[in-house]
Amino acid sequence: MTDTFVAQSHILHRAFGQRPENVVSAEGIKLVLESGRTMYDATCGPSVSVLGHHQPKVTEAITRQLKQIAYVYSGARFTAEPNEELASMILGACPGGLSKAIFVNSGSEATDAAIKLATQYWHERGLPNKSHVIARKQSYHGNTIGALNVSGHTSRREIYRDWISENVSFVDPCYAFRLQKADESPNQYLQRLRDQLEAEIIRVGPGNISAFIAETVSGTTLGCLPPVPGYFKAVRELCDKYDILLILDEASYICTDHTIMCGMGKTGTMHAWEQEGIRGPDIQTIGKALGGGFVPLSGVLLHQKIFDALAAGSKGLLHGHTFQAHPIATAAAVAVQKIIKELDLLNNVAKMGKVLEEALEEMIRPLPFVADIRGRGLFWAVEFLADPESGAPFAENAKFCNQVVDAAFENGLNILGNLGVTGDVHVEHVIVAPPYIVSESEIRDIVQLLEISIKDVSRPLL
Ligand code: PLP
Repeated sequence: MTDTFVAQSHILHRAFGQRPENVVSAEGIKLVLESGRTMYDATCGPSVSVLGHHQPKVTEAITRQLKQIAYVYSGARFTAEPNEELASMILGACPGGLSKAIFVNSGSEATDAAIKLATQYWHERGLPNKSHVIARKQSYHGNTIGALNVSGHTSRREIYRDWISENVSFVDPCYAFRLQKADESPNQYLQRLRDQLEAEIIRVGPGNISAFIAETVSGTTLGCLPPVPGYFKAVRELCDKYDILLILDEASYICTDHTIMCGMGKTGTMHAWEQEGIRGPDIQTIGKALGGGFVPLSGVLLHQKIFDALAAGSKGLLHGHTFQAHPIATAAAVAVQKIIKELDLLNNVAKMGKVLEEALEEMIRPLPFVADIRGRGLFWAVEFLADPESGAPFAENAKFCNQVVDAAFENGLNILGNLGVTGDVHVEHVIVAPPYIVSESEIRDIVQLLEISIKDVSRPLL
């Protein structure tokens, strides 16, 4: 049934049966609703508002930029000071040879730009056949047609099948908790993933492959899932062996000094891949927490070798948007990055991440249906199974995690759950990813509300 407010609103809301709550303000990390209720936003939206909602220095930076120059078209002849400053801040400290940035407005745009950039790179190198992308099942890289094409999240793709390219193929994600066989050691599992990727590269032909794309730490689809140690080393080696670009999507991470929904800081280093012992990707996307939710902003970081190929070839980028590198957005993001440094918030991410992990282990692990607790930094997920002992999953229509999300909402806690069917492995999880400024007592409140919510949903099923 369609809610009356939703039917009458001029906004096309996403869920027709549900009246959205009007958020009127915020108190610290809590949202204040029109109804007078307050609730913890325990995932910063989808890993966005990592500094909470009020930061006078960000307001000042936006106002200053508005007074100076509100908009320049950064597509060709113009740039603006904060655009250059933000790129320098992110890349100046960046290991691995990433040396240029493109700023766009959403993670999906960043994915599209990354794929196009990879394609252009091979054209400039005189290898136009290298256009196929290998992606992973149960992945999500965005909602635009380009990004959907490389996303293995089946229910998001289903009705758009006529728009889906055959120039993309999928290999298994690195998901040891569900996909490592009982008689397999971690090394054997890793070897199987490596062999599968290599077999796919050989099947398609390295001369036809542009890039391999993956989230460094899987976010929304698999629930804050870090790779098993050595996975990205193996991937990097295969990409090098067969001359394929490695695109790492860190658009969803929250940690900055660089990135945490796995990038910009939520995993405790600026880039999640820094914890993988690799020299880095050839192309990386960043987003969500980059502008702290004060502005929409995402980006693509690229290796010097890609710039060199373009510089030696057509001397330009065959991609652009009207609002790319909007100076209000980049000015806000510069302020966000400075605050993270000044308040030493990556340190707080590491400290509070430990507190969150311990609280989840103590209060959530013993609950029924809780099968796994995993994450990094302040980016954590709880995975549910119908029978954690035998490993039996919930039926696809059980929507256990959606019920937990709904119960949490009623209990004053906003969290995220897996949205729909991701593929041949049915995953039920919820994410807890509080802002970098969260305190110990707030973490305990959040985890307590989660505990109550899981108990509310479990009770009738026991
Ligand atoms: N890439 C990843 C890893 C994401 O998690 C998301 C969004 O959740 C996107 C891309 C798409 O970002 P956006 O919603 O800003 O288009």
